[in-house]
Amino acid sequence: MPRVICYLGGRKREGIKNFLSSGVKESELCKKWGMCQNADMKYPIELLRLIALFKKLPGVGSKTAERFAFQLLTWNEAETQMFAEQVAITKKRIKFCPTCGCMGESDAPCSFCDKTKRDTSCLCIISSAKDAFAIEETHIFKGLYHVINGLLSPIDGKTPEKIGIEALKKRIHDLQVKEIIIALDSTLEGDTTSLYLKEQLSLQGISVSRLALGLPMGSSLDFIDGGTLSRALLGRQLF
Ligand SMILES: [Zn+2]
Repeated sequence: MPRVICYLGGRKREGIKNFLSSGVKESELCKKWGMCQNADMKYPIELLRLIALFKKLPGVGSKTAERFAFQLLTWNEAETQMFAEQVAITKKRIKFCPTCGCMGESDAPCSFCDKTKRDTSCLCIISSAKDAFAIEETHIFKGLYHVINGLLSPIDGKTPEKIGIEALKKRIHDLQVKEIIIALDSTLEGDTTSLYLKEQLSLQGISVSRLALGLPMGSSLDFIDGGTLSRALLGRQLF
């Protein structure tokens, strides 16, 4: 194992490539080679690698990643072994359906694509396989799902081709879908993608709708932000 003392160390640059391969960005490494004031505060390299891996998780910053890593060190060997094995097994056994993009434990066809139990004339478009489980819990939707590959974001290189618009169009044509429900996030990217999909998929004989936006259940108007209230007013329904 080559010595790598860069991050909070900065004594030697040798082995930096190996260190970067563990997930730390070069911008995060100490640039004061040999002069770093924190040289004595560095963590062992294996711990830094673990912290870097935790930082890849959404919403996890440096401090939280450090807490996770230090917490793992308090686990006994059996627990850490089980943790590591379960990560590997989950990754190996969870499959994504090549037809709809939903998650399952076997190769296609997945349970979400079961045409004997689902209404094939109705298609719900989601941006994450996880969303299908949330919608299923409502026991209201009985149609099929289609997971697009993320939301449009030209800055991040997410163009219509990247989210799989052609595959979506082909599936709609093959299934002879009559109704499309767009169930995407209520964010700038979600709004942009929803508008784009509406323009692309509003073909003759197909009804396109989007999940209602507005007041959360059980909330008081006092606590609703202006943007949400505006959406609720614009999307008001006859009562
Ligand atoms: Zn499927």
